[in-house]
Amino acid sequence: MSADARTAWQSAAIIAVGSELLTPARVDTNSLYLTGQLNSLGIDVILKVIAGDDHEAVASAFAHARSRADLVILTGGLGPTDDDVTREAVAAALDLGLREDPAIVASIQRRFAARGLEMPEINRRQALVPEGAAVLENENGTAPGLWLEQHSALLLPGPPSELKPMLEAWTKSVAQGKGAATPIHRQVLRITGRTESHAEEALQPFYEAWQRARPPVRATILAASGQIELHLSTRASASAARGALGKAAADVRAALGDDVVSDDGKSLEEVVGDLLRARGWTLAIAESCTGGLIASRLTDVPGSSDYLLLGVVSYSNASKIDVLSVPADLIEVHGAVSEPVAVAMATGARERAHAHVGLGITGIAGPGGGTARKPVGTVVVAVVAPDGIARVRTHRLRGDRTQIKWWAAQTALDQIRRMLITEGARA
Ligand code: AMP
Ligand code: MG
Repeated sequence: MSADARTAWQSAAIIAVGSELLTPARVDTNSLYLTGQLNSLGIDVILKVIAGDDHEAVASAFAHARSRADLVILTGGLGPTDDDVTREAVAAALDLGLREDPAIVASIQRRFAARGLEMPEINRRQALVPEGAAVLENENGTAPGLWLEQHSALLLPGPPSELKPMLEAWTKSVAQGKGAATPIHRQVLRITGRTESHAEEALQPFYEAWQRARPPVRATILAASGQIELHLSTRASASAARGALGKAAADVRAALGDDVVSDDGKSLEEVVGDLLRARGWTLAIAESCTGGLIASRLTDVPGSSDYLLLGVVSYSNASKIDVLSVPADLIEVHGAVSEPVAVAMATGARERAHAHVGLGITGIAGPGGGTARKPVGTVVVAVVAPDGIARVRTHRLRGDRTQIKWWAAQTALDQIRRMLITEGARA
């Protein structure tokens, strides 16, 4: 359905063209950028397709996209070589002729001349324009973009550095002129300590009320690297959206309590940092199985030197004894992966750095090293609070080595976060 020229577009489809995007080597990032831009214009992306460099594939994807969305954006396949078929495929699907535009030929010739080169003949393909298309200038490359207003189809070059300025110019001159569609606003809540289904169960009762609210709030729940994310979105003015999303976020907080890590998109490590800074407390950590991953994540946050004093990767038993003053007989009696050793590691790091809070983590990331009593995925996390009291927990994590390391870091950061909430409330 092509949109009435006077009404705003509600929906868009994106077609990313390029055989390299169908290999493990390249990711289609253009569509993420385009989706963000379209959402802020109030346009929902309802379909994304990746098509290889193949005339039929692009033409049929385009025909299907047009039947579903008000606006279709294609990226890539506008180069000069034989495998660049977007222009030809779109023209064929719309039954439009192509003619060479002398102004584009001249401009491509100038680009080559500026580098002391002659334009190769194959670049003439980039000057082919479907009937009725407006040419969008490309300041960063040879491929011009094409805007087929009557068909609500926009063809953009693949390289992100060329696509972005072109989309911005098109937005200013065309899309905003369509009239003010109401923008889409989003809010992400991060949740730990529950499975996706348990979170869904607790939130289900709210979904209908959020849908009935004015403006309605849509919710999508997903599991993402060791936590649950709840994505809320609404189509409204900025202030109405803030109100509606804020109300929904408050409902979630009331239902899930401290299991809500953040409602403003902040990561777990940012939240831990915020809590430490708010309390004026410092942290020292001793890591074994996570190999420095926790320190790495904490230091991803700018300003983390305010609270992180020390991070030790203590992999061998000897280093646990020498660097962290873990008593040798604790390791002998209980094993390196045990609650007493995790507590001693946390205590050792905390005392060495004169920090308020100490973290110790030790575990078996696999694939070898597991036993019947301590299988692969056994991870012990100890957090020593400012009052010197240790909280220690043994977790059984699942997955391969990389997943166990990530989950272990996630679990440890969350254990610090929960201690900071309860101890901070008491202090
Ligand atoms: P093209 O316009 O097809 O000649 O694209 C040229 C280059 O742009 C490709 O080799 C990629 O490096 C990049 N590219 C193409 N499509 C995309 C996309 N969807 N996302 C990110 N990069 C892209
Ligand atoms: Mg290509």
